[in-house]
Amino acid sequence: MAGEPQSDCLFCKIVAGEIPATVVRKTERVLAFRDIAPKAPVHVLVIPHAHYPNAAALADAEPEIAGELLAEAGRVAADEGVEDYRLIFNTGSGAGQTVFHAHVHVLGGRPMTESMV
Ligand code: AMP
Repeated sequence: MAGEPQSDCLFCKIVAGEIPATVVRKTERVLAFRDIAPKAPVHVLVIPHAHYPNAAALADAEPEIAGELLAEAGRVAADEGVEDYRLIFNTGSGAGQTVFHAHVHVLGGRPMTESMV
């Protein structure tokens, strides 16, 4: 069923507490934890507990949780004391996605003026 935990999914295992993570925020539906290979002084991943392969699929199936994901990303930035930050949703391996459980990267704490767009 859509949204159900997947036994081969790293982030489902983090949600289940089977793999350790440095959790910074947790709600009933969303979890935020530090990226294991940070690309900036602040690098936090915000994920839904439910398993969807990417953020667009999450938003399509469960728009309320997708909204909460974004709101939590903003709260993470506030908690971390960063006013300027970047949110990244890599979608598909060709775009750099390596974990196929919806997530948004919250990056901040250094200048991020270079732009892809
Ligand atoms: P993406 O490349 O957009 O799929 O992002 C996946 C992110 O997960 C990468 O930035 C990885 O560094 C991060 N990551 C992989 N394994 C772990 C882990 N065990 N704990 C925290 N972050 C992880």
